[in-house]
Amino acid sequence: MQGIIEVVCGPMFSGKTEELIRRVRRCQIARQKVQIFKPIIDNRYHATDVVSHNSQSIEAVPVKDAFDLLQRVYDSTRVVAIDEVQFFDENILSVVTKLARRGCRVICAGLDQDYTGKPFGPMPTLLAIADTVNKVHAICTVCGEAASKTYRRPEVKNKNQVLVGETDSYEARCRAHFDYFNEEEELPLMEFLAKTLKVNNLATNV
Ligand code: ADP
Ligand code: MG
Repeated sequence: MQGIIEVVCGPMFSGKTEELIRRVRRCQIARQKVQIFKPIIDNRYHATDVVSHNSQSIEAVPVKDAFDLLQRVYDSTRVVAIDEVQFFDENILSVVTKLARRGCRVICAGLDQDYTGKPFGPMPTLLAIADTVNKVHAICTVCGEAASKTYRRPEVKNKNQVLVGETDSYEARCRAHFDYFNEEEELPLMEFLAKTLKVNNLATNV
């Protein structure tokens, strides 16, 4: 069997874990040897299960890092599924590449962006090297449109990129209802626009 790297990405509540579980179950029906992993950092619901927000679950092996994962893959394993892949460091890239080269089907699910809208951890490169990418959407909690962003509720004071939480801390939002003001990225753009408009004598209320 030829190896392949598949990625399912999107915001929280978009069905990434459901999709991972669906693909894994189909492999199990086909009697392929599957191993499922998740990083130890994600200890929501259950220490050793991958659990979706609608309570589907599948047994998984928690691993502390990418090399720990690699060491636990048996030679006979045909399919390796990894949930919450955004929490791994860059070493996950060489590990999934090695597994695919060995002939494994590697199914990765993870957040493409953090709560500020920035690409999450190894995801940009993982998306680039993947053979297939599925970007899935949740439902915006404000307007019901397709949501591609994860909004951290303003009452949550923790500003770390990693804060494991549920609907108490996060909501799925569309672009229009996300509006996270990222100073670092947007101030240079504002300055540029202000300057351009001034030069063209258009500046009124920038
Ligand atoms: P992910 O792994 O992407 O966070 P899950 O697969 O765990 O998502 O959960 C998807 C499920 O979450 C949906 O089938 C639905 O039951 C539930 N859900 C809760 N809030 C939302 C929302 N805002 N949009 C879509 N699904 C939601
Ligand atoms: Mg999930």
